[in-house]
Order: sequence, then C-alpha cells, then structure tokens
Amino acid sequence: MTPVTAYKDKHVAVFGLGGSGFATAQALVAGGARVLVWDDNEHAREKARAAGLRIENLATIEWRDFTSLVLSPGVPLTHPAPHWTVLKAREAGVEIIGDIELFCRERRKIAPKSPFVAITGTNGKSTTTALVSHLFRSFGFAVEVGGNIGTPILALQPPAQDRVHVIECSSFQIDLAPSLDPSVGILLNVTPDHLDRHGSIENYAAIKARLVRNADQAVIGVDDKFTLAIADELRKAGRPLTLVSVTQPTIENGVVLDGPHIMRRAEGRSSEIADLAGIASLRGAHNGQNAAAAVAALGSLADDLDRLRKGLQTFPGLAHRLEEVGRKGKVLFVNDSKATNADAAEKALLSFDKVFWIIGGRAKQGGIEPLRPLFSKVVKAYLIGEASEAFAQTIGDAFPFEICGALETAVPSAARDAEASDIAEPVVLLSPACASFDQFSDFEKRGDRFREIVKALLAAETQV
Ligand code: ADP
Repeated sequence: MTPVTAYKDKHVAVFGLGGSGFATAQALVAGGARVLVWDDNEHAREKARAAGLRIENLATIEWRDFTSLVLSPGVPLTHPAPHWTVLKAREAGVEIIGDIELFCRERRKIAPKSPFVAITGTNGKSTTTALVSHLFRSFGFAVEVGGNIGTPILALQPPAQDRVHVIECSSFQIDLAPSLDPSVGILLNVTPDHLDRHGSIENYAAIKARLVRNADQAVIGVDDKFTLAIADELRKAGRPLTLVSVTQPTIENGVVLDGPHIMRRAEGRSSEIADLAGIASLRGAHNGQNAAAAVAALGSLADDLDRLRKGLQTFPGLAHRLEEVGRKGKVLFVNDSKATNADAAEKALLSFDKVFWIIGGRAKQGGIEPLRPLFSKVVKAYLIGEASEAFAQTIGDAFPFEICGALETAVPSAARDAEASDIAEPVVLLSPACASFDQFSDFEKRGDRFREIVKALLAAETQV
C-alpha cells in the first residue's frame, strides 16, 4: 500500500467503494487523514465498515470542513450530468480528485524523481502497460503495475527511486488527476469512445492530452488527427517528446514500425531495434504500435538491443487478446474474446490470412458491417448468441456460415472444418465483435469457456 501522508490530519470524503475507492480510503487512513466514505451499495458499505472505515452519508455532511472529495472513476464528473456529490463539493469549494492524483501528490512529497510511467489511449492501454512492465522487469527493475488494470494504484508499493510504477490510466482517471506528472507519459491513440461521459471527442482528446502535457518525457502515437494535434502542441511548447508511428515509417525522428520491424528514426536515418515477426503475443500492426511505444518509453535502456529483443520475445501477452490457446495439427486456436466491437475484431482479422471465425453475442450498433472489406479473410463463420440472425443477414452470401447457438457447438464445428480444409495455416478465431452479456457475465468468462472447450478437444485428440 502507498499511505497518503500528504493528507495527514485533513478531512477527505471518498465516494464510491469499488476496488479503487476502497484502496484509496485505506491509503488515506494509513497516511493519517480523517476519512469519511460512502457508496450507494449497501454491500460495499458493509465491507468498508468491516475494514474499519468510517461510513457517513455524504448528503448530510458539512462540506466546508473537507479538503477534498475523492471520486471513483466510475462516477460522472461532468457528463451526462455531474453526480450530486460533485455539485455539493463544488458549491463548498472542495476540490474533486481521484486516486491517481493522490499518488502524484504523494510521489512529489516522498520520491519526486522515482520512475513513473503512465499509459493511456483509446485502445492498447492494457497490452502496453503489461509490455512496459515486462520490459522493465527483463532489464532487472522492480516494477509495480496497476491503475486501471489489476491492482488500484494506492494498493501498490510506494514510489521509490529504485522502483518503476507502470500505471494504466483511463480518461476518467485522468479527468480526476489535474496535476498528473509522470516521468514518462504514453498516449497511444484517440478515437471516439466514452463520449456519453465526456460530451464530445474534443473534450475526450483534451483529457487524454493531460497525461502527456506535464510528463518529463512524452511518447505519442501520431497515427490519428487528435494525437497528432497534441504532439504538435507539445513540440511547439518545447516539451521532450518521442513520436511513434505505424503508418509513417519515414518520419524524421521517433520510433516507427516498418513491416514487422521496429525502427528508430533519427535525423531522417533508420536503425533497426527489433523484429516482431514470429512474436505471437505481438501480432498485428496495432500491437506494433503498442510495442513501439513501449520501446520508446524505455529511453536509453533500449540501446541494449540484446536485452530488449529478449524482453520482447518473452512477452507472454494478455489473456483474451489474440491469445493463442492451442494447436491441433495445423489448426491454431485464438481467443480474442476482448473484441467486443467491430473495431477490435478488425484488428484480429487484419492479423491473420484465413480464419474460421466465431462471432456473435450481444451486437453493438453497426454490427459487423464495417468489417466487410475484410470478409475475404473469412473461410467460414460460426454464429453464436443474440446477434446470429442480424449477422447472418449482413453476411448474406459473402462467405458460408453456420448458426451454432453456443460456443460448445461452434468450436468443434470450426475445428473440424479448419482441419479438413486445404489451408496451410488455418486459424479458429473467437473474435466476437459483440458484448458477451447475453450468454456470459463478461468477456473473460466467454474467453475462459472457449479456452476450456479447446483444451478438451486437444485432450480428446491425445487420448485417441
Ligand atoms: P485497452 O486496455 O485500451 O482496452 P487492450 O490492450 O486491452 O486495450 O486491447 C483491447 C483490444 O483493442 C485488443 O483486443 C485489440 O483489438 C485492440 N487494440 C490493442 N492495441 C491497439 C492499438 N494500439 N490500436 C488499436 N487497437 C488496439
């Protein structure tokens, strides 16, 4: 835990007692703050009470006595409408912040020069966070990893000179961290997302920009117009900046992807840093962006090319994101259950040549229509869940399909067809382009089930 000593004896209200709110309250108490907590959910309040936290209905407190309101990132700060605690706090002139802000203040107090890599972007945050931590570990560093992924930031060990914090930040967390000042800030990309919570894409991009603006070193993927504008702003302000691109391999300076190669560009000249070909956990240009950004974040450490290459090669990848779960003869099985929309499924289709594609679940707006340009990669589709009928209509006669209902039918059927095909390297791909909620509680459960079915198929094979 990181006790927040910067708030000793101060009165702090904490609203929202999910994982991060709970850890925040405990870290504040450990640092000597006077903390009142509340959550609308009775079960969460019970858990907090059992842990010795002081529960108080924040609707009835004297807000003027408080220094800060610490808000959980899931609670609306601005859109669609500010939460009632936000209105109360504002009225009383109480600042509204989140756990990342508390960490930043504590870091400035106890270890201002400690390595702190903060990562954001619309897509690729978790993969890049995992890869950056893996690389630092392979260079021998002690690493604390968390934030929006895994462990809440204040549940991690405190910042220290000899310890690297690698922290994934959502836009909601950045919105609650006005003085975010990492030693390295990575902004991967900005595409429309969460606009219900941020009002407009411009506002969303402006929030993302705050992660890199005060970084000692900013690393920015410049393959979309929003991040390009942010990089331009930082360049004009003379901020230290490394550009990353997967679409412009000839930029003057930066780290780029050229085919499967990560290259450093300096004064218009290229030198090879690493070859991603054959690294299964980093398939596809989207992972090329994540890897190039991770390499850029290492700074001069990346000059030790042998260690860096070993680090990249040994990256295990994250579950449910183009995760290889097994091979049966020539057939490769890939779990991409995290692909809950067409955008993510597009990245999967782009990463393989010929797929036996398991899709469906609860459809998102637009369905799989945006994937039409990639339909030529699909040998056959296996439809599951609520979206089956709508997807069948979209597919028409573009490629053959089977309505399977559930994974239990889809996986063996796709495996049989893939094996019997004359394709050299067929892939059975679960990349559903849908939410999982019609059949599973979350995408992890869906991916876990897929993995189990594949493992059972492989086990049956070895028994014969
Ligand atoms: P996040 O944490 O931002 O949701 P993840 O690393 O969990 O990102 O990846 C989620 C999905 O987003 C992946 O399955 C892939 O489809 C897509 N993705 C990953 N990295 C990128 C990237 N750099 N650009 C675009 N899409 C990406």
